[in-house]
Order: sequence, then structure tokens, then C-alpha cells
Amino acid sequence: MLLEGDEGRTLGAEMPDGVRFVGRLLEAEARWRVPDEAPTEADLAMCVACGLCLPHCPTYRLTGEESASPRGRIAAMRAVADGIAGPDETFARFMDLCLACRACEDVCPSHVPYGRLIERARAQVEPIRGRRARFLRWLGLDVVLPRPKLLWLAAALQPLGRVVLPRRVRTLVPRRSELFRRLPAVTEPSGEARGTVALLAGCVQDRWFREVNRATIRLLARAGWRVLVPREQRCCGALAAHNGRLATARALAERNLRAFAAADVVAVNAAGCGAHLKDVGELLGTSEAHAFSAKVRDVTELLHEVGTGDVELASVTSRVAYHDACHALRAQHIAEQPRALLRAIPGLEVVEVPGGDLCCGAAGLSNVLEPEQSAELRRRKAEAIVASGAAIVASANPGCTMQIAAGLRELGAEVEVVHPVELLDRATRM
Ligand code: SF4
Ligand code: SF4
Repeated sequence: MLLEGDEGRTLGAEMPDGVRFVGRLLEAEARWRVPDEAPTEADLAMCVACGLCLPHCPTYRLTGEESASPRGRIAAMRAVADGIAGPDETFARFMDLCLACRACEDVCPSHVPYGRLIERARAQVEPIRGRRARFLRWLGLDVVLPRPKLLWLAAALQPLGRVVLPRRVRTLVPRRSELFRRLPAVTEPSGEARGTVALLAGCVQDRWFREVNRATIRLLARAGWRVLVPREQRCCGALAAHNGRLATARALAERNLRAFAAADVVAVNAAGCGAHLKDVGELLGTSEAHAFSAKVRDVTELLHEVGTGDVELASVTSRVAYHDACHALRAQHIAEQPRALLRAIPGLEVVEVPGGDLCCGAAGLSNVLEPEQSAELRRRKAEAIVASGAAIVASANPGCTMQIAAGLRELGAEVEVVHPVELLDRATRM
């Protein structure tokens, strides 16, 4: 894949412009067709088919079908690996309906690395998708998301383009994106610096939820960190990896390794991105990548450890429900830290969402690619939030935030959806 600044390494780099352009098209076409890899025998062999994961799997809970369960999906992957079945449309369907929420991985007594299995199985089915689907995936995941300027252009054109967007996309994407006023490259702490933290601004997060990034920077600086926002950083690659575009995910990971080299800690405020960056060591398999992954912290983990500085927290009289994003709860085992931070705000009552460990249905691009399943999970989540009696729901993942906000709008419920750091920031600024 060609990223900005990598032009010298692409096919035909020394050729005249026209030949280079054709070379790029051929290179893109090759990426668009070729499978990256498949689940390994060793990973598949770890599943002993005990079925303990089944009651925790949202798609199994919705359908009761073995083929929609982790055990059924792993059996299908094994059948393909053994040559009993091909990676055909039925296999692709089983894999596509998986939310990659990793609830099964979290409860599996055999420690089956399900997240890795599903990413590779999806890479395996990429070549059998129709040309239109492959083209759209390539355009979105390999071309637009990794390039901030193209993403900026997409966001700038959004007010005009909304009318042609499918309704299921239109209801999710916030109307306003922030196009100007970039985040500061460096923010000095109020007192003596305890270290340097670099923020992953994120692609979707920074385009549609930049206020969350601003609040994160203010809180980290108040907590004594020198905060960098490396300009060279790119999308973390989580969406590409979850959708079988592993070559793109690796190219982005290499780029981010260089961009974040100067930081003691890499702070992430989007659960899906944080979970992916913690797995970059495994994705690239190098000692540098493992060292990078060891530096990655969710911002709620970091603030829970170091506190919010000397500022006294003002009272925020309300009732908040914390939403457990699957990639925080399941993939990173983050549950208590954000709740403890919210409980520290005077006047704020923290309540639980009934059945809160069930995926909201956002699941990367699942809410766009599998709208029916996603709509059912969204409805259940929104109803559970309303039942909790909360006036605010705190969600630490942009995909979940969009999904929950859409679900609450569909119910006509007036519940504010914010990131936990926005509430903390509010309490430190009142
Ligand atoms: S994935 Fe784990 S919990 Fe699920 S059937 Fe296999 S071994 Fe059992
Ligand atoms: S990742 Fe989630 S949806 Fe997929 S099999 Fe596991 S529990 Fe089920």
C-alpha cells in the first residue's frame, strides 16, 4: 500500500508519471485481489469445542444457530483449512456476521486467540467477494482512511453528500465534523513534567469527535504529562485489520511505530484503536513492535493511575451509565478504571446498564455492512440504557458512541452521549 511519504518505495517510482500511475493501479489491483493469509493450524487446534463461549456470543444469543457461534465459526475455519470446504460465500457469511467483539476469547478456558482467527479468516474471504464490494473496501480502508487529506475531503463534502448516503450510514455519522483548528502538536504540563505522552488522535475520532481529543489533552497536561500529537501519525489500522486488509494494517502500524517513537506512553481514547495498537506487536512480530504495544494505554487506565492533577473536581449533579465497549471490556479488560474516575466526580451517580456486556452492534463496520443484526443489537442497547434511568451515557469508543446515539434517537430518548474524559474535563473546568 502507498502511504504519504512512502512514494519512493512504490512500484515504478523511477518511471515517468504515466507509467507510475499505471504501476500504482496494478499494485492496488493486486492488493485488492490477493488474500493475505489464513488462520493457522496451531490457533485452530486450541479450540476443544467445549461450547463455554456460546452463551456469551451476541450473534449466537440472537439466532441460536451453531453457525453463528464462536465454536461453529472455528469449525468452519477448520473445515476450510482441512480442504473439506472452500472459502465460499457461505463461509464468508458466517465470518461476516461475527461482530469481532471477542467476548468468546475473553471467556475461553483454552485461550483461543479468536480475534486473530477472525481477522485471518476475513483476509481469506476477501478474494471471493464481488468486485463492487472489494472495490469499496479497498477505497475506504486502503485509500481514504489511511490518508488524512482524503478523510478531510470526505468530511468536508459530507453536508452535500449526506443526501446520497444510504440511510443506515446517514443516521450514524454526526452532522458536524471539525475541519479546522488542528490539535496542538505539543502541550506543556502545568507543573513539572512526569513524562511525555503521545496521543493517538484517530481518524474517525479526530474528524468527528475532536472535542474528545481536546479534553484528553487538557486532562493529561493537568495530570503532569507533556502531551504530543505527532503529525506523522495515521489511522491505527484497526478497521482494516478487522475487515481482512492485513497488509494495510501492517503498513499503518509500521508508520505509527516511527511516528510515536519519541513518547514514553502512547495514550488512546478510542477502545477499538487501543485494543488494536496493543496487538501490533503480534501483528508485526518484531521486538520494536512489541515494545510499542507495551507503551500503549487507554486514557482511562492512565488517568486512573496518575489521577487528574491538583484541580479540585466540581460537582456534576446527574446520573451516568458507563457503556462497556467490547474492545475495552473484552480485549483490554478495562472496566473498573473508567467507573472509578466517574465516581470521583462529586454529585455524579454511576449506574449500570442492564446486560451491559452485550455488544451494541457497532462492531467496526458491522452497523454499515450488516444493518439488520446491528439494528437489533442497537435497539436492545438503547432500551437497556433508558431502563438504567441515566441522563448521560459515557462511551469510550467512537463507533459505539455513534451507534448508541442513533439508537437513543430512534427511541426518542433524551440521553446525552459523551466520552468519560469529557465529563472529567467538565468537572475540572467548572
Ligand atoms: S472457543 Fe474456547 S470456549 Fe469456545 S468452544 Fe472453543 S475452546 Fe470452548
Ligand atoms: S467475536 Fe463476538 S460475535 Fe464473534 S464469535 Fe466471538 S463472541 Fe461471537
